[in-house]
Amino acid sequence: MIKDNLDYVYQNIEDACKNAGRCREEVSLIAVSKTKPVSRLMEAYGYGCREFGENKVQELLDKYDAMPKDVKWHMIGHLQRNKVKYIVDKVALIHSVDSLKLAEEISREAIKKQVEVSILIEVNIADEDTKFGVKAKDAEQLVRDAASLPGIHVKGLMSIAPYTMNPEENRQYFAKLKQLSVDINQKNIDNVNMNVLSMGMTGDYMIAIEEGASFVRVGTGIFGERQYPVK
Ligand SMILES: *Cc1c(COP(=O)(O)O)cnc(C)c1O
Repeated sequence: MIKDNLDYVYQNIEDACKNAGRCREEVSLIAVSKTKPVSRLMEAYGYGCREFGENKVQELLDKYDAMPKDVKWHMIGHLQRNKVKYIVDKVALIHSVDSLKLAEEISREAIKKQVEVSILIEVNIADEDTKFGVKAKDAEQLVRDAASLPGIHVKGLMSIAPYTMNPEENRQYFAKLKQLSVDINQKNIDNVNMNVLSMGMTGDYMIAIEEGASFVRVGTGIFGERQYPVK
């Protein structure tokens, strides 16, 4: 089943690139594996997936230990400062930096562990009360402040678009995030290269690609619906 799902997602990515006149190589798929057991991740690994996304530190660490070492791990969920130390030397990219305090903590731990950490700034692009992320108008300042810290490289922006039954409604937000990233890039800030745009999930990744996504984060579309334990 995972193989069929992946074939379908890869075909959609190719089609979306074609629609947008983009090169297929510009878009990477992150398999969002939260709540799924390692056996399912290994299945996806067997079909070529090497980039995995998790939103909880403990779960990421458990899977990091269990999975082959050539996997690139993406921290895509809200990150608490006291947990930064566990992951800085294990993740390829932290997508969810939304405050200077968090960036400062990442910088401190990066120096301690002598690693360079790549981060994205999370933007609450639709200005939803329920979402993490900085407001669009505050993104440039956080990019500047984070980029001035040692051990950190700001690579771009990330956003979680609103939940909607009609993915076309999110096109405006993807376009807005893209424009914001272009605008910031034009400021030529030291140590900043806004090449990465992390946007688009199972319901809307094709539209995100048409609007410039470089990472799409697909969970349900690969692994099926998530079952959360009843509390
Ligand atoms: C869970 C999650 C995804 C994947 O969502 P799907 O709709 O299952 O594809 C993408 N991004 C983030 C930040 C997530 O938490």
